[in-house]
Amino acid sequence: MPNSHAMEVEQKVRERLPSPKRRKQGPYAVFECFQSIPCNPCYTACKFGAVKPLTDINDLPEVYYDKCTGCGLCMTACPGLAVFVIDETYSEDKTVVRIPYEFLPLPQVGDTVDAVDRDGQVVGKAQVVKVQKFPNKTSIVSLAVDNSLAQTVRGMKLAVTEGNGAFSAPRCKGCGESIVCRCEDISMEELLKTIGDGNLTLNEVKLATRASMGPCQGKTCISLIMKELSTAAGKPVEELGGPRYRVPVKPVTIGAIRGDRSK
Ligand code: SF4
Ligand code: SF4
Repeated sequence: MPNSHAMEVEQKVRERLPSPKRRKQGPYAVFECFQSIPCNPCYTACKFGAVKPLTDINDLPEVYYDKCTGCGLCMTACPGLAVFVIDETYSEDKTVVRIPYEFLPLPQVGDTVDAVDRDGQVVGKAQVVKVQKFPNKTSIVSLAVDNSLAQTVRGMKLAVTEGNGAFSAPRCKGCGESIVCRCEDISMEELLKTIGDGNLTLNEVKLATRASMGPCQGKTCISLIMKELSTAAGKPVEELGGPRYRVPVKPVTIGAIRGDRSK
């Protein structure tokens, strides 16, 4: 049963989907960075002019669906792993959900994997139908899922699978190269070393690495850091004490702070 956060985001995504007619014409991109992330690589990556220019760098991108080809270039450029491509034309009863994937090892075509929602909860099974590697290390994995899960599945777990070389450990060979904090370019290896050096609180990790102190202010990395701190401490995340957020909750111009609403 999906939890309330995953359902809330799914509802927002459903409200922004292209028309039913467009959805039957081929793959389309959906953008899910509802956290006011101040960036626009998706806009610059799109070669088809399908991402509308942002009037505010914090805005959620909008798509000209008549121009979007579902190529996925925006997916590999997005630092927040917030773009997905959906193909509802794959077959009569299956939809292909293309997800950005930065774990190793990559799954293989033909693998059956656990399909998960936006909070990592298993919601069904998926079959891997395509795996694409890109130089920036954000791969794209195409998952065939039941049509009813087209807007629910946004990830996969390779751990509980049938017929593949499954892994269940959170740290696999090569996982250390995965980037945890995109803004400050902190890898998993650096994070684990910092924790191993005795930095066992979020503040200590921030002071040692600058993780979570970049433009996105931890929107992407804090949950990953807290998970590793929880593993190291052997305590649930809730017992560790999370970050203290201060206003403004999203980046604003100096003019806006001055009170000039036009800035
Ligand atoms: S999927 Fe391709 S065409 Fe569509 S918005 Fe992304 S980059 Fe542009
Ligand atoms: S988080 Fe991703 S989808 Fe959102 S604006 Fe940045 S690049 Fe675009």
